[in-house]
Amino acid sequence: MSLRGPLTPKQRGYTMTSKLLKIQSRTDYVEKVYNSLVDAICEGALSPGVRLTQEDIAEQLAVSRSPVNQALRLLKKDGLVQDAPGRGVLVAPLDAQYLSDVYEIRGTLDSLAAKLAAGKRALLDPQLLDRGRAASKSGKVRAMIDADMDFHFAVYGASGNRLIGETARGHWVHLRRVMGAILQVSAQRQSFSEEHADIARAIERGDAPLAMSLSELHAKRAHQQLIGEFEGLLQAQTLLADVKTSAEAAALA
Ligand SMILES: [Zn+2]
Repeated sequence: MSLRGPLTPKQRGYTMTSKLLKIQSRTDYVEKVYNSLVDAICEGALSPGVRLTQEDIAEQLAVSRSPVNQALRLLKKDGLVQDAPGRGVLVAPLDAQYLSDVYEIRGTLDSLAAKLAAGKRALLDPQLLDRGRAASKSGKVRAMIDADMDFHFAVYGASGNRLIGETARGHWVHLRRVMGAILQVSAQRQSFSEEHADIARAIERGDAPLAMSLSELHAKRAHQQLIGEFEGLLQAQTLLADVKTSAEAAALA
């Protein structure tokens, strides 16, 4: 046993409070810039192919360039932006194969979460289902996407495995983006809130196999509906890019 007594905070290296706070607040800043860019990309305010520069974003958000630079690095890692020829970055184009990959993983994660939640006979907040029904009736895209995400994250939370929500979060950025783009131009899947209710019931009853298969089916149906609309959207995206290119060429001519 040591006669010197317990280590002081200084000896433990815990005397960096002010520096830690500074880092913390800077991280919040990066997160805010990151979130506002993710929202703008997901809601179509920044459409695929749009060129972004640090200076423009910093000016529009009234922040310095440093958090913008870090936020752009995170977005690049997420696959939401990519290097632009020359300078700056582009909002990444929508990619059907990537979307299929995301849905494949999502179906499995949702099913695992449902199994674990059913194992606990978890009771999901009925307001989640009410909000989903109301959003579906309202036809408001943002409300529908938010209600959908809230339901699935509640199941991830009820699973008790924190890694499911953490893993799914990166995928949902892409799902939100595609759902947003498609729901702007096509009818929503009316049945999504009823499918949520069926999944919630199976979880509550502790019927793990049913909760798993309903979750898998829910993700599959969502994917099929989106993929059906996706081709048209990709064509519109290509047309738009062509129009932009010829407009730029005309402006330069
Ligand atoms: Zn859903």
